[in-house]
Amino acid sequence: MTLFPDMVRGVLSESIIGRAQSGGLIEIGYHNIRDFSKDRHRKTDDTPYGGGMGMVMTCQPIYDCYENILKDIPKENKKRVIYMSPKGRMFSHDVAKELSEYDNLIFLCGHYEGVDQRIIDEIVDEEISIGDYVVTGGEIPACIVIDAVSRLIDGVLACSECYEGESVASGILEYPQYTKPREFRGIEVPEILLSGDHAKIDRWRLEQAVSITRERRPDMLERHPEIEESLKPKEKKKRRVKNG
Ligand code: SAM
Repeated sequence: MTLFPDMVRGVLSESIIGRAQSGGLIEIGYHNIRDFSKDRHRKTDDTPYGGGMGMVMTCQPIYDCYENILKDIPKENKKRVIYMSPKGRMFSHDVAKELSEYDNLIFLCGHYEGVDQRIIDEIVDEEISIGDYVVTGGEIPACIVIDAVSRLIDGVLACSECYEGESVASGILEYPQYTKPREFRGIEVPEILLSGDHAKIDRWRLEQAVSITRERRPDMLERHPEIEESLKPKEKKKRRVKNG
């Protein structure tokens, strides 16, 4: 639900998420809140009670837009209504995973000073934030959440390993990636990646991933000590020799 559906449609109709829609793996509806305004001038916002700067989005068009969406959602479907908001729960890979379990997600995108609190109290299950900063509208935040959730849906990426090994999803940050050519401006691809020795390559990648995570996000390694642990040489088990 947005006042600027083209902003969202433009972003989500390209590349992998666009293909996921044309392939029928996910379906995204773009609902213009303004189409539901009963105001003679199709107004969707008003000045805040109590005074202050800016405009607040009014309840009526959002509520009617929401009811219209509900008509197309079977009652037994598991659905969640999300208001994109800097006051919300911080978005993360774990939240994306949680949301990917729902049949239907309905996103309310605020604009201007936000939306009337009564519409949040009435229809919203959860507020989600994309970070501790404020952007001009909920459209870009909603696109981020939709993109991150959609790529967890079966079939959207070529394989689940495609995201399981990635930064954050694996528990730590990803190792550096290289592609052709072998040399660029005199800089060579690390020799080990050309060795064909997959055990050595896996180990090198893990070492790189741990090192980059230690430098940039030590908190991640603290949450997953077993990852760094796996790089340490294993103690050889002493064989017991039975007497006799
Ligand atoms: N006055 C609001 C406040 O201080 O909390 C901010 C309004 S903001 C300019 C307009 C809209 O952008 C919000 O209603 C929300 O939908 C969206 N938005 C802004 N920052 C966001 C963030 N970090 N995460 C999610 N949505 C955000």
